[in-house]
Amino acid sequence: MNRAPINLYDLTREELRMLFVRWEFPTVHAARLWSYLYLKLASNFSVEAMPELPARVRAKLNAEAMLGILPIALKTDSSDGFTRKYLLSLGDGERIETVLMRFTGRVTACISSQVGCAMGCVFCATGQMGYTRHLTPGEIVAQAVHVARALRGSAPNAAASNRDATPAAVTAHAPARLRNVVLMGMGEPLHNYEAVMQAIDILHDSNGLALAAERITLSTVGVVPGILRLADEKRALHLAVSLHAATQAGRAALVPAARKWPLDELMAACRTYSEKTGRRIFYEWTLIEGKNDSAEDARAVGALLRGLPAQVNLIPLNPTSGYDGGPSRTEAAKAFQRILADEFAVPSTVRQRRGIDIAAGCGQLASVAE
Ligand code: SAH
Ligand code: SF4
Repeated sequence: MNRAPINLYDLTREELRMLFVRWEFPTVHAARLWSYLYLKLASNFSVEAMPELPARVRAKLNAEAMLGILPIALKTDSSDGFTRKYLLSLGDGERIETVLMRFTGRVTACISSQVGCAMGCVFCATGQMGYTRHLTPGEIVAQAVHVARALRGSAPNAAASNRDATPAAVTAHAPARLRNVVLMGMGEPLHNYEAVMQAIDILHDSNGLALAAERITLSTVGVVPGILRLADEKRALHLAVSLHAATQAGRAALVPAARKWPLDELMAACRTYSEKTGRRIFYEWTLIEGKNDSAEDARAVGALLRGLPAQVNLIPLNPTSGYDGGPSRTEAAKAFQRILADEFAVPSTVRQRRGIDIAAGCGQLASVAE
């Protein structure tokens, strides 16, 4: 057998069942294997890891299948202890970032969709790297499995609080189950549409990791055809759109992809998405001092989003080596928020800059680890 082995993380539960039909094994073994993969988080096909599989099934798996577990190349904790960042190795030696965040008892995995990114946003470490390749569904799923496994290995510690947090805080608070996933790591998820949707279906499966669709957030730079396609999907995901500027010229200077998908087309797609799905969109705005954080900028985005089902997420810039800009001051962020709220009734949050000391901005760990 010299075909490449099947990565089981690439398959939905139904596809795994069909594989067992093709192999002429009773499908009950496929169901059992699925729960070993996603409930027990097994890491190999051994008798210890999967005791109830018959020997002939185990032999077939060893011969023709594999589990695409991603080994850790580097692991770092932020000094406040609430962010743990992993650089994970892929089979071909490429590396991607996966981040485990633990704020106010909420566990979130931030996962990557590509190696590098083709969109070239000027302030983004991943954009500065350029595009290498898409991730497979299995490589996306394996990141969530990795985080779920890391959490399972942690001992709950009720005594830990935000104030006396140590690096152990990342894994120290109950509940130790992965509930939230954001596709905000390296890459543009809507540029790798099929693989991302397949991965989401696997993560969502109620007999597996069982991540609720409304706890999965996909962040896009504004790939208009992808947003329109998503609008017709049944999946109840959350959509986040990276805006960063409220004029076409201002946006094109930060986000080169805006030249291909101009602001008016993007906003039309967002309106269509919200009308068809009935869902609110998060609009992300990386706050760069002196660039897009003035009262005038706040009024421009307020006017753009007024009346839409929208929430703005303001993210102070994490500085990167390839971009000569700094984060907005807290006062500027607060003033921005006030204008959005008072003059336009647009809700917003300021994302805490946690984990900045471990380069928790998108793509930053991979770029410093070279
Ligand atoms: N490609 C997708 C998702 C990954 S980036 C997108 O662009 O939306 C996730 C978010 O992090 C985006 O809003 C992006 O603009 C933001 N981001 C990237 N680099 C950053 C940095 N250095 N500082 C702050 N936010 C950054
Ligand atoms: Fe790609 Fe998103 Fe970074 Fe832009 S911000 S380069 S779209 S990963």
